[in-house]
Amino acid sequence: MSKLPLEMPLDAFPGIAQKFSKYLKKLGIASVRDLLWHFPARYEDFSQVRRILDLEPGEQATIQGTVEEINLRRTWRKNFTIVEAIIADDSGNIRAVWFNQPYIAHTLRVGRTANFAGKVSVSHEGELYLSHPAHEIVNAQATEQNETRHTARLVPIYPETRGLTSKGLRFLIQPILKNVEELTEWIPQEVLEENDLPELNRAIEIIHFPSKIEDALTARKRFAFEDLFLLQLVNAENKSALAKEKAYAIKTDIEKLKTFISRLPFELTPSQKKSLWEMIKDLEGPDPMNRLFQGDVGSGKTVVAALAALIAADAGHQSAFMAPTEILARQHYHTLKNLLLRLDTPTEAALLTASGAKIIYKDGLEADISKQKLREAIKAGSVKIIIGTHALIASSGPSSNHATAGKKEPGTAFKNLALVIVDEQHRFGVKQRQALLRDPNQRTHPNDTNKNGSNSRHSDTFVDSHRVPHFLSMSATPIPRTLMLTIFGDLDISTITELPAGRKEIVTKVVLPEERKQTYQFIREEVNRGRQAFVICPRIEGSAKDEPATGSDFRKLELKSVKEEYEKLSKTIFPDLKVAMLHGQMKPKEKEKTMNDFAEGKIDILVSTSVVEVGVDIKNATIMMIEGSDRFGLAQLYQFRGRVGRGEHQSYCFLLSDSKGASTKERLQAILEAKNGFELAEKDLKIRGPGEFLGESQTGLPDVAMRGLQDLQLVKMSRDAAAKVFAKDPTLKKSVVLKKELEAFKRRTHFE
Ligand code: ADP
Ligand code: MG
Repeated sequence: MSKLPLEMPLDAFPGIAQKFSKYLKKLGIASVRDLLWHFPARYEDFSQVRRILDLEPGEQATIQGTVEEINLRRTWRKNFTIVEAIIADDSGNIRAVWFNQPYIAHTLRVGRTANFAGKVSVSHEGELYLSHPAHEIVNAQATEQNETRHTARLVPIYPETRGLTSKGLRFLIQPILKNVEELTEWIPQEVLEENDLPELNRAIEIIHFPSKIEDALTARKRFAFEDLFLLQLVNAENKSALAKEKAYAIKTDIEKLKTFISRLPFELTPSQKKSLWEMIKDLEGPDPMNRLFQGDVGSGKTVVAALAALIAADAGHQSAFMAPTEILARQHYHTLKNLLLRLDTPTEAALLTASGAKIIYKDGLEADISKQKLREAIKAGSVKIIIGTHALIASSGPSSNHATAGKKEPGTAFKNLALVIVDEQHRFGVKQRQALLRDPNQRTHPNDTNKNGSNSRHSDTFVDSHRVPHFLSMSATPIPRTLMLTIFGDLDISTITELPAGRKEIVTKVVLPEERKQTYQFIREEVNRGRQAFVICPRIEGSAKDEPATGSDFRKLELKSVKEEYEKLSKTIFPDLKVAMLHGQMKPKEKEKTMNDFAEGKIDILVSTSVVEVGVDIKNATIMMIEGSDRFGLAQLYQFRGRVGRGEHQSYCFLLSDSKGASTKERLQAILEAKNGFELAEKDLKIRGPGEFLGESQTGLPDVAMRGLQDLQLVKMSRDAAAKVFAKDPTLKKSVVLKKELEAFKRRTHFE
């Protein structure tokens, strides 16, 4: 008999097509392959059949019994059904209950014998019953013989849909599995052996019909490993492709650097020095740096990155320094300006954002400049350090960050861009990062710019056609180790492990509604002492204006808005203090003025949306009050908190929330307890899962692999395996099947 091809559509089976195709479609199953790759969500253990008399409350158990009674009821609520059955064996009987599974009353008739596996629950009256047991009817004649033992085993329970149960799926999968063609193994034999993974054909079989739970687990491990392994191969390829590229070799003038550093208003921390040293080493060679620079909020990454840019400038090369928001770009510009003003011979630097441009000349004088003029200067190479938002360099695709959204800025042409610094890297997609680095030879010469408009990927950004820029990305949201080794696996890493000396731990407190008054009183006292406060709100507008509230989302209506809080605080609570507001609907100039006023102490209390989230650095601010704190992600809350405690004053973070949900508590608790960002990132990953943690733009990975991302050991395994394979055969010419699988994976996950 000829075997069933994997790609055969299920419609080709007349029996299946008529009966199930509608339901299969709902599950996204169209072919033999889809069906075989529809893995069980769990297994019921029918292998230990218990006597009804011996059942204990709370346990998960399997019994074999005969249906003595069964009936279907509808409750007063429409469409709500209960099936109740009495099951008996020779030791006694027990009730079984199913909600909203009326079909059970039709398959399980009085007199039938079946296995039932489920949880032993206790009713209000203290009576034991089985709730929602999985069941499998035992063939009546077979029972006489030894069929019981045969059916009493692990039974796969699948993700179901109404109309197609696990049992239905088993019925479909079993014969197809028996008759399918031999599957082509694509994981190299030695990888399977070294990592104790089952071969593909066996894995498919035992993931559906394991004889013991260990088998199911190894099969699962294999399938989770698959994508991680492919992902690691992609990393290895990227890394080696990048290694073939050439960057400018930038020698550091150590004596000059020492002078720069001695002019700083503080001593660099040991980690800052170490990180800087790692960068110096990277810049020195012609291999492009590809480094992630991570360190807790307030640990002082900016100054280190600025020093790297100064080193490049000193060697005659250009650097682009990009921030996710305009506010932040301006702040970095100020940091750099302050640094430059301390030098004897400042280098030419500029700020270029959607709303305008500024330049600092060699003599240290600052001037406004038209964007057009600045672009010309950048192209001519006279300006060495250019600070801006992401729009500065990325000309392609819609950007996910708010600073550039909706605005189409032309990209910038450079003369000799040697270093790209991206702040808060995790907010930008992996793809963007790769697009920035990949294939610099595709970047056209400036003369060709705009020939085809500015849509093609690199057409706007000129880089010497034989050089790629060194790349430094910074993140204050530390990336959990598993993700570091996978999604970010092709990066080198520098880490700041300590905060600058003298920082005090920020007192963090969840504020109950009845403590609000006290909290305002406290803020007033702090302001009287000369300190400043942030009040963060989840919304700008008070009503459903900017985000219409739907029935299910009525809570939005209760969310604090910047405008309302501003009214309340400035008019009723603190009429005598200087209160201002800041949000994304304001004009960039207004935002800048407000931010400057706050930085200069002209404002006591700043009511703001999340625009102050990342990086904003005001040493005199000691209070961060967050309204509707349950509406923000953990990493975001952590970032907010990092806005205070940046100077020598004791600082406070107040988390307000009207939600009493358990997960809200868990989240707020996590931030209360987190000692550092790393710990928090791990917790965040656990609570929210990698998809949300990274943002959807970050991965195109399927579920199994996403779960795999939480398994450090598996991640390490896949990394080692990929490294070995790649080292032996970098082009995979000896592993044709693997290569094919890798190409398919790239298409699937849009890595290309
Ligand atoms: P982040 O790492 O969060 O980006 P910043 O670079 O904004 O942190 O630095 C936070 C603050 O700490 C800034 O005001 C900066 O001037 C200051 N700072 C940086 N390094 C040191 C240091 N070694 N000692 C004291 N203060 C420092
Ligand atoms: Mg920062």
